[in-house]
Amino acid sequence: MSDAARTLRRPVSAAQLGVWVAQQLDPDSPLYNCGAYLEIGGPVDTGVLGEAVRRAVEETEALRSYFTEDTDPADAPERAEDPRLWQLVVPAEPTSLHVRDLRDAVDPEAAAHRWMNAEMQIPFDLGRGPLSDQTLLLLADDRSFYFHRYHHAVLDAFGQSVYAARVAALYTALLTGTEPPASGFTTLDRVVAEETGYPGSRRHARDRAHWLDLFEEMPDPVALAGRSAGSTHRSLRRIQTLPTTLADRLTALSDRLRAQWPAVAIAATAVLYHRMTGRTDLTFSMPLAGRTSRTSLATPSAMVNVLPIRVTATPETTFTELVASVSRSLADVIRHQRFRGEELVRELGLSGGRQARLGPTLNVVAYVDELRFGDTPAIPHPLSTGPVNDLKINFYGTAASGRGIRVEFDADPDLYDEREITAHQQRLMRVLEWVVGQPDRRIGDVELLSAVERERVLVGWNGESRGVRGVSLPVLFGEQVARTPDAVAVVCGGREVSYGELEAWSNRVARWLVGQGVGPESFVGVVLPRSVELVVALLGVVKAGGAYVPVDPGYPAERKAHILTDARPVLVIDDVAALAAADEYADTPVEDVPKLSHPAYVIYTSGSTGRPKGVVVEHRSVGAYLERACEVYPDASGTAVLHSSVAFDLTVTALYTPLVSGGRVVVGELDERAGDVGRPSFMKVTPSHLGLLEALPEEVSPSGTLITGGEALVGEALASWRAAHPDVVVVNAYGPTEATVNCTDFRIEPGTAVAAGPVPIGRPFWNTRAYVLDAWLRPVPPGAVGELYVAGVVLARGYLGRADLTAERFTADPYGPAGARMYRTGDLARWNADGQLVYVGRVDDQVKVR
Ligand code: AMP
Ligand code: MG
Repeated sequence: MSDAARTLRRPVSAAQLGVWVAQQLDPDSPLYNCGAYLEIGGPVDTGVLGEAVRRAVEETEALRSYFTEDTDPADAPERAEDPRLWQLVVPAEPTSLHVRDLRDAVDPEAAAHRWMNAEMQIPFDLGRGPLSDQTLLLLADDRSFYFHRYHHAVLDAFGQSVYAARVAALYTALLTGTEPPASGFTTLDRVVAEETGYPGSRRHARDRAHWLDLFEEMPDPVALAGRSAGSTHRSLRRIQTLPTTLADRLTALSDRLRAQWPAVAIAATAVLYHRMTGRTDLTFSMPLAGRTSRTSLATPSAMVNVLPIRVTATPETTFTELVASVSRSLADVIRHQRFRGEELVRELGLSGGRQARLGPTLNVVAYVDELRFGDTPAIPHPLSTGPVNDLKINFYGTAASGRGIRVEFDADPDLYDEREITAHQQRLMRVLEWVVGQPDRRIGDVELLSAVERERVLVGWNGESRGVRGVSLPVLFGEQVARTPDAVAVVCGGREVSYGELEAWSNRVARWLVGQGVGPESFVGVVLPRSVELVVALLGVVKAGGAYVPVDPGYPAERKAHILTDARPVLVIDDVAALAAADEYADTPVEDVPKLSHPAYVIYTSGSTGRPKGVVVEHRSVGAYLERACEVYPDASGTAVLHSSVAFDLTVTALYTPLVSGGRVVVGELDERAGDVGRPSFMKVTPSHLGLLEALPEEVSPSGTLITGGEALVGEALASWRAAHPDVVVVNAYGPTEATVNCTDFRIEPGTAVAAGPVPIGRPFWNTRAYVLDAWLRPVPPGAVGELYVAGVVLARGYLGRADLTAERFTADPYGPAGARMYRTGDLARWNADGQLVYVGRVDDQVKVR
């Protein structure tokens, strides 16, 4: 048997071993299928191409290999720790190129893409081979795609480009009848031999020390997406070519800064990430050729190494400075590039998929070979270069190449949709345009928003202006009394009180309170258990023109004492019997109070630090909230259950919305069954109640509208309740006490399933504005995380007796009408692509957000 016809056994590279091990976890997955096609814009001689491919395959061991494991450890004692993996290189087969004629297809190009995409899903068998195939897709007489599909275990993108160049050279030579140049390829054992001796060497020890030192503290991976997911073989790809003038200016800038184009590209991408996430410590994954000698660089093989590049970007950094520091980091990466990324991930104890935790991939392929098939130029198009973790950004080419610079975004479709990718890509273009024009300005000034986006986040997605009546709670309630005086207003422990009775009783209490000195701008502590009397007391206080300070009787004595001292109430009602003092008074309302500018209540919030502080909320805000609530929650006119403490403003929704729209308020428990109340049509809970709701018998389970609020809601928490109650409107309502109960909400309409991940908090209410701003109070682009600010009619007056704190949290609204204020919530949020707000977390919980 001749040498060429013998099966040869070759060792595998570290890269091959890594891919092989990963593939074993899921043998039938196409995750590691790679592919590319050359777009050939002229006639192709299929016979000549077939011959060129046949010869190229004969020269290329990588395309004739498959894998085998040793059964006898004695065979390879030196590799005892690794799976004893070898590649077997088989003789070339006679036919290596398939031809598919799509010239008669309705849309040949679309048909070609359909077919290639389907091929990319077919798994290879690493234990059998072949692990590569090549097809010429004829689209027209003078246009074709030469498609090459391969497994990542035998070839990487770099190796594939070397191979494609060889096929082009052979084709051209055969066509013109000239002698093809020597391939320069070597055998796989010689390529892999470069790696032997490295593990355990002093160089390895030095490289290892460098990497472990650099990542002594590993930052969380940075991402433009608001969600996370595993790696996928599907991807969403979008390619954009830089305008020639921009490409030329970037090249000139690189020259002027004495930097390589990759450093400029990485720095610009870092600006995008820094500005989108607020993060200053950024790490990206960078594929490196993983070959060190000329022969191995010239040989198609799978050696790629992925290592992280760590970039520090602060708002004060200028682009020039950033490029200089990226250049230094890049030089470090290259100096220590022999250290394997797999080993680093293992040593750092990072879990998840391969390189998943190192950050998004940045791949700057500066020198893209100009390929020619005879006289016909061919443009390479990568289809997949392996699994996509989060996002890959590929820069192909240089301005000098004549074909320009292409920027390709290759995204995990579970994390990004088309619009988001398009927006990120356009933003990167804006960053490039900006930095090329003013490289010596601080990157904190880069304008990321387009004029359209700016209009959208400040106006289009914001709460519309609406004329509201502007009436107070006593007026709204009084109107309802006139409409339904005999209807049941409140039920508690079997006791029922009608609207008429509630009106008369609370009027008497109001008159009594006025006699005690209660009026506008005065406060009344209400420390009562949930009862009919509690409702009467709250209404009585506002009807007297005063503001109530609700205190849960179950609060620790210290907290109670703090609140009742801090608020300096005129009076504290802490016993239901106290209301008897009002029995002698007249049933008619106190006149002329309250005005819209008078406080309605003071609610104490714990805040994350310090003593509880009293939030003073005016009638203007409560009235506006209720006017809207009546309109958008018509189910409040049915049966509502008030199940939680009135010390939170959650009960403003649960108590007053029904009382101003004719509903019946059951003061009781979540599973209230006393008095046969049936299924409540209107209920407000926190997400932590969802578990309890699930356990409720159907006859008392919420119907109509269920509002959740107060904490972050994720789809997973709601999913099973939702599946059993698809006809209920579920509303995720967001808002701090300082913005009167709620200021944004998101509706999950009947019949709509809830998606996994955070449920949006939606859009601002009427006459309400919400801004997601950066540290300089500039709106951040959709998708970027910033701090949430709220403005408009919902805004509280401020903190009781805390002018300093009020001034700190309630500041001038730069985007509202003259004199308007906005409230800094301390919450992090982002706009999603649908223009809905998504809550991300608390500012305080984030380490070094800005
Ligand atoms: P409080 O002032 O006590 O009502 O607390 C308001 C805080 O609760 C907000 O600033 C948020 O941090 C959180 N919060 C309220 N509603 C939501 C919601 N729907 N999703 C996420 N967080 C929320
Ligand atoms: Mg609240």
